[in-house]
Amino acid sequence: MSNGLELFDELGLIATHDERNAFDAVVPPIVQTSLFTFSSYDEMIATYRGEVVRPVYSRGLNPTVRAFEETLAKLEGGEDALGFASGMGAIAATVLTFVKPGDRIVAVRNVYPDAYRLFGTILKRMQIEVTYVDGLDEAAVEKALPGAKLIYLESPTSWVMEAHDVGALASLARRHGALSVIDNSWASPIFQRPLGLGVDLVLHSASKYLSGHSDVVAGVVAGPKTLIDRIRGESLPYLGAKLSPFDAWLLIRGMRTLAIRMKAHESSALEIARRLAAHENVASVNHPGLGNALPPGLVGTSGLFSFAFREGIDLRAFCDHLRLFKLGVSWGGHESLVVPGEVVLAQKAMPNSAQEFGLDPRSVRLHVGLEGTEALWSDLKSAIDAARIA
Ligand SMILES: *Cc1c(COP(=O)(O)O)cnc(C)c1O
Repeated sequence: MSNGLELFDELGLIATHDERNAFDAVVPPIVQTSLFTFSSYDEMIATYRGEVVRPVYSRGLNPTVRAFEETLAKLEGGEDALGFASGMGAIAATVLTFVKPGDRIVAVRNVYPDAYRLFGTILKRMQIEVTYVDGLDEAAVEKALPGAKLIYLESPTSWVMEAHDVGALASLARRHGALSVIDNSWASPIFQRPLGLGVDLVLHSASKYLSGHSDVVAGVVAGPKTLIDRIRGESLPYLGAKLSPFDAWLLIRGMRTLAIRMKAHESSALEIARRLAAHENVASVNHPGLGNALPPGLVGTSGLFSFAFREGIDLRAFCDHLRLFKLGVSWGGHESLVVPGEVVLAQKAMPNSAQEFGLDPRSVRLHVGLEGTEALWSDLKSAIDAARIA
């Protein structure tokens, strides 16, 4: 089993680029253009006939976006990839390419809340039923699979960090003829490469670790050429959530440091999770690296985890006393963030049941950034001290 470290060399290759850039620039230039012109009628008609593949219009093909897609495909070990204007753009286009009215999807519980809402609104309106299952209960997953068109996975999940045996779930899906899709945003390709575990398509909110600098909203899906070609041909151009050249350029920049950032998030978050688990005011910690061994194929842990306080802590005082941890949604950047569960549940658009994505109102989610373990721990400790109800 790989330990993830061999990816450092691979990433080094990606970072240095195989091809020479225009003007021998060390950084690939941004091809910031909406359209590309032709030098002759013959060249134009040959392109439209499909005899020549070249950029025509940036909603279709753009060289900077293509460079990002090729980099991500390499990292995930896929034949091809497609970039999107957001993670939700990638999720919507991917799922909608492969389902039609009357189909059924199986999804693990606790999926990202906006994916849950997409399933409960647009898919429901299209008469596509979604069955939620416990991804840790393989017998329950197998029971739900017969007749399903697609299984939608997310592991580890992004609120309770439930880590599934992705390879086992993918092989169940294959046995029942269901396409498997996974949201791999939490682990990033540094710590989990689902295509190698037998999953058909892997997608990311590239807004998180792939970017790493909290300055991009983007998404991507990777997998075999046949499946990516279907998304490219059937839904991306018409749903239209195309990644922009500038965002692709920022992602290429961010991915150069992905491997070292992930190692730093991992060690800091694991140490803070351990200290929280031992803290007198903490009831429980959801971090896949504590307790049980990681499931096969997950070779490391990232900076995102959640925990719950015991009674006697004022959540508002805790949040307001934090200095390094900022109150904010999203994650995956250099900065540390905190989100209280009860705040997320106060959101109007929230479905009735918080059950499906495992959100406990007493829980708090932390993203451990790159500020340094001791500084972050001292921030947490003093905020807890200040939040004790006398
Ligand atoms: C943020 C997120 C998404 C959605 O991505 P956007 O880029 O915000 O559209 C999907 N899945 C997970 C796990 C996320 O955290």
